[in-house]
Amino acid sequence: MFDITKMVKIMAVKVYKIYDSRASETVLATYNNLVFAQSPSGKSVGTYEVPVAPEGVDKAVLFAQKKVIPKLDFGINQKDFDSELEKLCGENFSKSGSAVSVVLSILNLRISAYNKKKSVYELYNKNPKKEDLPCLLSNTIGGGLHTQNKMPIQEILGTSKQNDFSKRVKDGIQFYKSVEKNLNDKKIFFGKNDEGAIAFNGDYKESLDIALKSRPNNFELGVDFASNSYYKNGKYFFGNKKMNERKYLKFIESVIEKYKLFFVEDPVTENSFEASAELVDKFGKEKIICGDDLFVTNVERLKEGIKNKSANGIIIKPNQIGCLSKTKEVVDLAKSKGITPVISHRSGETCDTTIAQLAVGWKIPYLKESLMNGERISKINELTMIYNDLSK
Ligand code: PEP
Ligand code: CA
Repeated sequence: MFDITKMVKIMAVKVYKIYDSRASETVLATYNNLVFAQSPSGKSVGTYEVPVAPEGVDKAVLFAQKKVIPKLDFGINQKDFDSELEKLCGENFSKSGSAVSVVLSILNLRISAYNKKKSVYELYNKNPKKEDLPCLLSNTIGGGLHTQNKMPIQEILGTSKQNDFSKRVKDGIQFYKSVEKNLNDKKIFFGKNDEGAIAFNGDYKESLDIALKSRPNNFELGVDFASNSYYKNGKYFFGNKKMNERKYLKFIESVIEKYKLFFVEDPVTENSFEASAELVDKFGKEKIICGDDLFVTNVERLKEGIKNKSANGIIIKPNQIGCLSKTKEVVDLAKSKGITPVISHRSGETCDTTIAQLAVGWKIPYLKESLMNGERISKINELTMIYNDLSK
């Protein structure tokens, strides 16, 4: 029988420099144009993330072609693959960067699925059900580093509480369209930011007020404060406010309460394990206090967070840590401690849909995404296909 794994050994795997949704350079890996993987990149990047390409994408691609790919077998057990990959790419993928390591890690998984004539999610989830489809946290109004407007909050997100996945998608789209309508009614000019979220020059109050007004039924709001971007030398510079940590925490609490936020990401800066714990203590029973830059999908940082009770949610981005096995280790640890994993796109995206597949494969309850632009809606469409397959 034709075995793709053997063919792959005869050097059919290639990597290329391509461009992401921001026209920044990134990496694509393919097996003979049959199986593909592409890597995203962030702009609101945590200090402790694996760098994307330490010496630039051209050098990373050359390094992969010459020093990594010839020494690897593809289509093998994922943990074994990722451990060989890390040996070749340097500890924590320091020589290659995450663009190369993540595409090769994904390519291995996709070749395994191809060999077994399965979808990626079926490799992990042996008894998949419609109920395994994630809730969506859709980025709808943008600010911060992705937008460069008056609003320091990076993202205002919405999540539908409906049981049915297709209704959740419809609710998310309705929310987006009613924000557009409410802005049009007020004759406020708007555009789209890096992630396809609505960008207008309102401050945080105007933005959250519009969001509150535009919610469908059974719908809740979330926020990614991405507070690293407005923190400097012990102070938070939020719009025209300058606050020390104590004052700032009171302010964040008032925003959470006033806008009934259900999901709150990186409200405090990336080393503030203890300050984050104060918010978990106050709101953790009803709300998700989530760490992104705080954890950077890193198991050691998650352990620190568990020790301090710093969060009850964690953003999962494979390229923050460099390969899928290390990503899964973090998801498994989080779940075992009752911390909600939220798998997420990056602001610089491609049409790679692996995070959608992993959401169902690893039974991750939330996918953070936008509902606009091809590179974002491709993940939602992939989930819609899975939903249809599982509904038969
Ligand atoms: C985020 O901060 O959650 C995000 C998706 O942005 P970026 O990819 O720029 O880190
Ligand atoms: Ca974030």
